[in-house]
Order: sequence, then structure tokens, then C-alpha cells
Amino acid sequence: MRASNLLHPVREQMLPYARQWIDEDDVDAVVQVLRSDYLTSGPAVEQLERKIAEYVGAAYAVSFANGTAALHAACYAAGIGPGDRVITTPMTFAASANCVLYQGGIPVFADIDEQTYNLDPMAVERLLTDDTKAIIPVDFTGQPADLDAITELAQRRGIVVIEDAAHALGAEYKGRKVGQISDMTMFSLHPVKHITSGEGGVITTNSPKYYELLKQFRSHGITRNPSSWENEGSRWYYEMQFLGYNYRLSDLQAALACSQLDKLDRFVERRRTIAAQYNEAFSSCPQLQIPYQDQAGVSSWHLYIIQLNLEQLSAGRDVIYEALIQENIGVNVHYIPVYYHPYYRGLGYSGRICPRAERLYERILTLPLFPAMTDQDVEDVIQSVHKVIQHYSITEAEQEDSI
Ligand SMILES: *Cc1c(COP(=O)(O)O)cnc(C)c1O
Repeated sequence: MRASNLLHPVREQMLPYARQWIDEDDVDAVVQVLRSDYLTSGPAVEQLERKIAEYVGAAYAVSFANGTAALHAACYAAGIGPGDRVITTPMTFAASANCVLYQGGIPVFADIDEQTYNLDPMAVERLLTDDTKAIIPVDFTGQPADLDAITELAQRRGIVVIEDAAHALGAEYKGRKVGQISDMTMFSLHPVKHITSGEGGVITTNSPKYYELLKQFRSHGITRNPSSWENEGSRWYYEMQFLGYNYRLSDLQAALACSQLDKLDRFVERRRTIAAQYNEAFSSCPQLQIPYQDQAGVSSWHLYIIQLNLEQLSAGRDVIYEALIQENIGVNVHYIPVYYHPYYRGLGYSGRICPRAERLYERILTLPLFPAMTDQDVEDVIQSVHKVIQHYSITEAEQEDSI
């Protein structure tokens, strides 16, 4: 009977794990730029940077073509070069480590905390060497990393903290907004993230030195500021002083992000409400663990990840994943440990570096979570998870066998 139940999916249409929310006022904001004098970096980019800096409480914000470019720029500004070691987590999107490779540096993977899934400061400490130049903690799922402990380690050694907060726009740590705490903080404006510009990224910082370097890096290494020129020049003159890139955000994109930013608090509120509904629905399921929340932070809930208690289940993660897809629930897996990827294996990383991250990877599923989800969507996810988990529950199966 249970098997035939599984043949009828809980919903007819696939629910994605994430999706943007675009209103008519967002469309209008972009159209207004199309009719204006500037298509690329103009007043909308400046406005976005002012608004994001103000929102997170940082002195400066610099926008980029995407979050990965922003991380690359931050590594440049931090002075990462060939042979420098940078410690990060394997439980992240590849970009958090790739940005180190772009600069010729060496990503070093430290294991995660079993509860928060964030970088474990003690694991970081054990990997610090004289060649370590930076730490890149990731605020995984929107829950801030252990920023006090990581900042203390970094300050003791005089190294830089680049916080990958792609998941954490709107999150707080000990009463402060993420974005004002670390030397540099990166936000992504990809459509699955909290607000979007199509593609886009931002670094926030309180350092005027980093601010200048970041701006110059995103525009070929060129400066038009006479006070920083090496040579004398007329009004038309400019200098390229190092090898930068064209990593600029366009005004079209910035206008979209500005309009979205006005809705950020509502988006985050909705995400928190859905996460609380999931917590309530799943907290008493012995077959899974809901995401642990450290009291030091308030998550902005980019992702909701359940951890399967495989000991209580007759199937592994991949079977549970497929069963939920059959229910038309767009589950996902975040993330494959970065060093598992063939490219990293080719660089010489072994497949056994961070046992806690590797163990977690076998057990995780990301459930759909985005502000535009309806109450019915949330209900469908809850019902599907219960249905599939019950079906593969060992205790249930044993009970059936004994009937
Ligand atoms: C999305 C994401 C990035 C990269 O951002 P893009 O804007 O897609 O380049 C980096 N790190 C993490 C953890 C992310 O989730």
C-alpha cells in the first residue's frame, strides 16, 4: 500500500529549491535605466553601493559583475599571491576556494563544526603556518560563521578575513549585521540568493585602502584619481598601475538590485517563517536532524538543509533524493566538498581531508526555500518529506515485517 502511495506525487508541478522574486517595480527600475544616459557603471551603481553599505553598516561597498569576481578582487586586495596559503571550508561552492587559485595561492581546507556546519576555528588554528595570508569563512546556509574566534586567530597573526556571505545578506552576528564585521565581506546577487541583479556581487569593507584597491581591480587596474598617479597628467590622463580585470556591474543590473534591496527585510522575514515551519514539522522526526542554530547569530536562511539519520533509514541520501524529486519537490545537495571535484584532485588534493564535512555530505538534502513559496508549497514539502521518510524508515519497515 505504501509503495502505491509513492506512485502518486504530492504535487503535480516541480517546486524548485530556489527562485527569484521580481515585481513590476523591479521591472520599472530597469526600464528607467534603459531610457537613461548610462547603461553601465553610472548613478545606479553608486546608489546600490551606498545603499548596501548603509544596510549592512559598513563604510564602503564595491559592486562586481558577480560574487566570484568580488571574491577574486578581495583576494587581490588582501595581497594573496603565488604560494600564499588561504584557509577555507570544503562545505561551500567552489568559488570560495577558486578565488585563491586565481591569485596563484593555495586553498587549504579546514574541517567544519559538526553542529553548525561552519568552519571550526580549532581546525583552522591547527592549519595556520607562516605562509597563511587569509581565512575565508563561509556563512553557510545564512548562519554566520564563528566570526569572533576566526577574527581573533587572524588578528593574532596579522592576516586578513574575507567573509563569504553569499548566503548571509540580512543575517546578524552578536547584534551586528553581517557585512560590517570582517576585513572584507562578499555578497552574491545571483537569482537564487536573497536579492538579485541577474548576476552581481558586492564587497563591503571599513578599510579605505581595500576600497581603493577593489575599485581599481574591477576596472583593469586603472585609476583616474590624480593624487594616486605616478606621473603628471592632464584632465584626460589615467594610469593602469597593475593588472586588473573588467569586473564591473552595469547600471541595468544595479537598478534591479537597488529595487530588490527595498524588499530584502520582507524576503528574509518570509524565509525565517518558512524555516520555522520546517523546524516545527521535522523536529520530532527521529530519521532526520533539523539545522542547529548557534545563539550568537541570526540566520537569513538562504538554505534549509536536513541531515538524514542514515541509521534510522533503509535507504541512502541518493534514494531519498530521488523519491523527493518523484514527489516534484526540487531538493538539492549543498555542497560536494570542494576538494572532491576532479580539478582539485588533479591539483593533488586527496579525497580524505575533512572527515566531518565528508560524513555530512553523505547525509544532507536541501529543501526548497524562497520567499515566493506559497503556504501550499511549504505544506507540500512537509508532506512529501514525511511521506518519503516514513516509507524508508527502518522502524516502520520492521513493524510491517512483524505483522
Ligand atoms: C553563490 C555563491 C558564490 C558565488 O557567487 P556568484 O555571484 O554566483 O559568482 C560564492 N560562494 C558561495 C558560498 C555561494 O553560494
